[in-house]
Amino acid sequence: MTNKHPGEVEEWHWLTYANMPLYCSFYNQNLKKIECSHEAVNFFGLKDKQEYMDKFSMLSPEYQPDGSCSKDKAVEMLQLAMKSGRNVFEWMHQDLNGDAIPVEVTLVRVEMRDGSKGIIAYTKDLREMKAAEAKVNEALKRTQILLDATPLCCQLWDENLNMIDCNLEALRLFDFKNKREFIERFPELSPKYQPDLQLSKNKAVEMLKFAFQRGGCVFEWMHQKLNCEPIPTEITLARVELGDGPNVIAGYTRDLRQTKAAELKAKEAYEQSKIMFEAMPLGCTFWDENANLIDCNNEVVRLFELKNKREFLDRFLDLLPERQPDGNLSRDLIPQLILYAIRKEKLVFEWMHKNLKDHLIPTEITLIRVRYSLGYIVLGYIRDLREIKDKISKLNFAEKLAFSDTLTGVYNRRYFNQYAAHEFSTQKITLSYIGIIIFDIDHFKRVNDTYGHDAGDEALKLVSAAAQSALRETDLFARYGGEEFIVLAHLNLYDSAKLAERVCKKIEKIEFMYGTDKIPLTISAGVAIRKKVTQTLEEVIKNADMALYRAKTNGRNRVEVCEE
Ligand code: GH3
Ligand code: MG
Ligand code: MG
Repeated sequence: MTNKHPGEVEEWHWLTYANMPLYCSFYNQNLKKIECSHEAVNFFGLKDKQEYMDKFSMLSPEYQPDGSCSKDKAVEMLQLAMKSGRNVFEWMHQDLNGDAIPVEVTLVRVEMRDGSKGIIAYTKDLREMKAAEAKVNEALKRTQILLDATPLCCQLWDENLNMIDCNLEALRLFDFKNKREFIERFPELSPKYQPDLQLSKNKAVEMLKFAFQRGGCVFEWMHQKLNCEPIPTEITLARVELGDGPNVIAGYTRDLRQTKAAELKAKEAYEQSKIMFEAMPLGCTFWDENANLIDCNNEVVRLFELKNKREFLDRFLDLLPERQPDGNLSRDLIPQLILYAIRKEKLVFEWMHKNLKDHLIPTEITLIRVRYSLGYIVLGYIRDLREIKDKISKLNFAEKLAFSDTLTGVYNRRYFNQYAAHEFSTQKITLSYIGIIIFDIDHFKRVNDTYGHDAGDEALKLVSAAAQSALRETDLFARYGGEEFIVLAHLNLYDSAKLAERVCKKIEKIEFMYGTDKIPLTISAGVAIRKKVTQTLEEVIKNADMALYRAKTNGRNRVEVCEE
């Protein structure tokens, strides 16, 4: 049959067919193979058409991959094509070595000029395609393995918003055994409504559509297990573009149970500390780094007998006496103290407050620097010292007897030394001045010698009372010995000297009559202040003493200061 024209086919038709690079063959009405193209011979690596026609039955394995008998199936396919006009199917061929050749066969019914029917079979080699498909499958398999190994619950959604896949972690999170069941029962894994009261069903559709349109989104979602145990999650939807194919959405579900539990704990801890802060029987204030008062607790409101916190914050300056006992302006000291606390971490000092009725409230303030976000805040604890001061003053009354001078009634040297030593050790804050004034009655021996010892005693009483009247309550005044007195005042050198002058003037004005004689009384005074916090009481007294000596030698009834 080789090179013979079949039936009525024109020559050029024949040539076109015989040489086309496509393997095709003809079957007649009886489904018998009667012709093939050259390509068919090449396809199987045969010598010629004759060999092809002779050995055609050996060019298919006995059974097709679907298990059917090749011979029977071939007949069945041809019959089907004859009936329907066209039949396309996959077929497994083999070469004479038995190597499999997957092909796609298209059978087309044709009508000959004589009215008889035949079938043309076009056979497409699928080896390359199958190899590529195998590669794709391999890649998909690897992707699946990756997906399953991801320690994050993942799901894939198609454009019709159907879940097409999920990973093993998703099964684990929701206690499922197989993917099919997970995908089918997925709608049961959310409560009917989300916490924002949207219907879960609607919201899910909305979010998926949004992700398809906009590329992705992140949102919180309330899931639940089949037993209704809630699982708060964070969902990340990302649109995955698959080149030619339709896009899919990859959904990553992060289990927020632990995070939520931690958040709840933090909230509880915050609330507990807030309760503790408010219930604390100690006033507490908050200051920012710029010495702005930002908050306080309830105890502060109670301490100052205020209506509420707002009143404390608004009227803080009204709760301060204009000056502190050391003479400094209260409002000037506050920023200095806050800055000092930020530098030193902790600062404890006595501070005078007052309430809105102008009653003084002595307090002890502890300032503590605390880290807060990127900087610091300062916590100020206010301890009300009224009760304790009251007790001390009662105690003082008893002690006063032991500590006071019997002749003049003012403090004696022992008390002065104790008190001053205490001041020197506690008032270490650089901004607190300590001034010492020592004064001595001029030519006192003469008074005794001229008018007798009783006149001398009387003079001592008058001098001490006059000096006392020139001093403030917070200045410490004592008889330091014989006709010598001492003052401790929280003043700088200039103000201490001014105070000494005032005392001098007061004493000069005393009208001391003894009988008909007016006895003149004057004093000489020496002034010194603590220059550095390291200076001791003894050193300052020595400096004041030296100044006093100069006052005497420079003519008496005068004040000299120690300038060093
Ligand atoms: P100057 O101006 O240099 O201080 O001279 P002065 O006479 O005041 O100093 P001096 O130290 O020489 O004398 C102090 C006198 O004070 C001596 C002492 O008898 C007297 N005196 C000390 N204590 C008492 C006292 O309790 N009562 C009386 N009446 N005199 C006293
Ligand atoms: Mg004297
Ligand atoms: Mg003296």
